[in-house]
Amino acid sequence: MHRKLIHNSYACPKWLEYFLIHLGVLVGMAGPLGMVRTHDLRDWAQRQPDCHSYLRHGRGLWVDGWWQLHCELRLEHPPVFRLEPGLLHDRVLLFMERTWMLQQLPLAVVLAALGGWPWVIWGISVRVLVSVVGHWLIGYFAHNRGAMEHEVVAAVVQGRNVKWMSYITMGESWHNNHHAFPGSAILGIYDDQPDPGWWVLNALHRLGLAWDIVLPGDLSPRKNLRPLTSRASLGTGGKRPGNCPVPRSRR
Ligand SMILES: [Zn+2]
Ligand SMILES: [Zn+2]
Repeated sequence: MHRKLIHNSYACPKWLEYFLIHLGVLVGMAGPLGMVRTHDLRDWAQRQPDCHSYLRHGRGLWVDGWWQLHCELRLEHPPVFRLEPGLLHDRVLLFMERTWMLQQLPLAVVLAALGGWPWVIWGISVRVLVSVVGHWLIGYFAHNRGAMEHEVVAAVVQGRNVKWMSYITMGESWHNNHHAFPGSAILGIYDDQPDPGWWVLNALHRLGLAWDIVLPGDLSPRKNLRPLTSRASLGTGGKRPGNCPVPRSRR
């Protein structure tokens, strides 16, 4: 959902996109448009020379946890975001946005039929709790601790690659790579960076269900991107797995 709905880094059939977004909504954080807005606000703020500590996970673990999980940031002069018309007029997305909490219900009915209340509690309540707390924790580490391959010059905060979280986050914890190449469909760009989300995308591609996959080498070079390691200075454009297609355009 992150790599498709937010970054449009590959193309797939509409039904598959809706299904993946539905899975993203089931995580329990917000509706699809709410998640796009939150992501874009953070993305924008983290690229500025300075921003509120809330938006860059800039305080200690416990303060950040309290803020992110229990508080709401209200800016006096918030930036204006206009969602793309394609998103704003998509009836399925609007429906998902209105009913995002209710979307747990069909799953709850199935779980109740299979195993009664214990399955509902573990399959819905505990899962949502673990996912929401886990999402915050990964966001905290991915902006505070971990290796860096690139620096986005003059940005208030840098993404970090959090190796030990790579499997449980489906590769999303290679966050330094994501800050460097936001439009890339692959996040674990080097061989020692496992990226299960990328493996899923490759499997979908083999099934003919994903195409026009964008990789770091397809993005236009950014002047404010400074390599910090020797392999980063060699560039990443050369990495194109054998089963990966040529992208639709060079962005
Ligand atoms: Zn970030
Ligand atoms: Zn992103």
